[in-house]
Amino acid sequence: MVEEPKRTIAYFCPECRQAVVVEKTVFSLAAGPGHIPCPCGKSALRTELLGDRVKLTVPCLFCGREHTVTCSTHAFLHEPALAFSCAASGLDCCYVGEEGPVFAAVRRLEEAVDKLEAAAGAEGTFLDDIIMHEILSELKDIAQRGGISCACGSREWRLQVNFSSVDLICAQCGSALRIPAATADDLEDLCCKSTLLIKGRRD
Ligand SMILES: [Zn+2]
Ligand SMILES: [Zn+2]
Ligand SMILES: [Zn+2]
Repeated sequence: MVEEPKRTIAYFCPECRQAVVVEKTVFSLAAGPGHIPCPCGKSALRTELLGDRVKLTVPCLFCGREHTVTCSTHAFLHEPALAFSCAASGLDCCYVGEEGPVFAAVRRLEEAVDKLEAAAGAEGTFLDDIIMHEILSELKDIAQRGGISCACGSREWRLQVNFSSVDLICAQCGSALRIPAATADDLEDLCCKSTLLIKGRRD
């Protein structure tokens, strides 16, 4: 049996600030307009084949707007890796290609996003001041009840405040737990937890 050729498409959701990476068959991409939603349901990338061109409408994490980009249909379906960038920030906002190169590019961009996050947080700039304030006070409550620990057994940790998240970093082993602090949903998620276990950066 011949495996159906597939393409991997990635973008960063501006709402929940996560990478959205989806695999699509060439057949389904060629079949008609495509809709690639973030699991959070608040953003979606759209694809549209217009003969020998493809139009992509990409939600952008960096400037908060949507970018409309085009490329040749051949490149869209066959290039090992295509990158589209945000005109406002110069950073990549979308990748299309083979699984390996696209995942590698997403990881590099995640590192860049992490640095921007940490730098903005260190300056006291937050995506949403009220949500960040509430998240921090909720964390303080959980900490006061002794609810924060690490899988390595340590109960010592430090806090790093970022642009739209807070990292709890184990003082013993250096593992980190990222608490998103972007939306009201993030706050709600945290409020229903009585303990937090640090067990690695992205679990
Ligand atoms: Zn999302
Ligand atoms: Zn942009
Ligand atoms: Zn630890």
